[in-house]
Amino acid sequence: MQQINISSKTRLLSLFGYPARHSLSPFIQNIFLKDNNIDAVYLTFEFPGDMLLNAFNGARDMGIYGLNITMPYKEKIYQMADDKDASSRITGSVNTIRFDLIENGIKAKGFNTDIDGFTVSLKEAGQDLENKEYLIIGAGGAARSAVFAFLSKKAKKVYIYNRTRENAEKIKQLFFGKERKKIETIENFELIIKKKINFDIICNCTPLGMNTQNMMDSIPIPESLDLKDKIVFETIYEPVETKLVKKAKDEGARVIDGLDMLINQAAASFNIWFDIVPGTKNIKKMLLKNLRY
Ligand code: NAP
Repeated sequence: MQQINISSKTRLLSLFGYPARHSLSPFIQNIFLKDNNIDAVYLTFEFPGDMLLNAFNGARDMGIYGLNITMPYKEKIYQMADDKDASSRITGSVNTIRFDLIENGIKAKGFNTDIDGFTVSLKEAGQDLENKEYLIIGAGGAARSAVFAFLSKKAKKVYIYNRTRENAEKIKQLFFGKERKKIETIENFELIIKKKINFDIICNCTPLGMNTQNMMDSIPIPESLDLKDKIVFETIYEPVETKLVKKAKDEGARVIDGLDMLINQAAASFNIWFDIVPGTKNIKKMLLKNLRY
């Protein structure tokens, strides 16, 4: 019989989302816990939005050690957190909660580690992030994190293309001064194709290419956009090889995929909870074995 090492001292970390049962975070976080001999388990909780406030307060009151938050609750939990770090404040979104013991209770502090997912993955791929020109497709939560991540690493320019340009403009308005001046929203791909706009790194922050809602055959850029010598950052990880990733590989671009980002944002959350940078070396290989796509 397999031994279960759970005792009354075992701590609990949780993922909140809806849906959340597809998430790979429990797989990754439980490996980090085991590798670092931490007596804790990480479990998924999937429930509808009208239960979120009760669940959040319950987690705090029952002494849950920390939370990850996934779609569609990152913005709602931002509102519920008692305190937020700079990255979550500017993006208005929280994907990690640390419950800190304070004199008169427990304080929930929010962080956004999607930002680390972008910067660490690029760094791991040997990319110097400074002074680069970025093209971000999409203007939702992931795009906001990407813009913050790249500007904080001294981007030269950040272009944002989104089907609803207004939403791209809203991201621009989150920044001020020199940083805002570096952001340009673009109306269509014609300008890029005609090389009126140049970029080093392109980042897909839309669900186009994902295995849901008949999006798997979609690609967020025109087929005619040449990706040779570019760096392509795909945030989608199911499938790992999206249509965009395939095109990028075929055209000789360097690819950073959604699993790289997922693993690095998870490692940053773990570091927030335990002040330990977990090893991530073999995790991608293990995940690839378990993925359906
Ligand atoms: P979101 O807040 O819902 O934003 C989605 C964005 O995509 C919006 O700008 C939306 O445009 C655009 N979009 C949606 N459907 C589209 C379509 N059919 N055609 C063109 N544009 C479309 O989502 P998010 O949280 O930013 O997530 C975006 C992607 O990032 C998802 O694929 C998610 O899985 C991925 N992600 C990955 C990780 C990771 O760790 N690998 C972490 C976070 C997110 P409108 O503004 O016009 O609505």
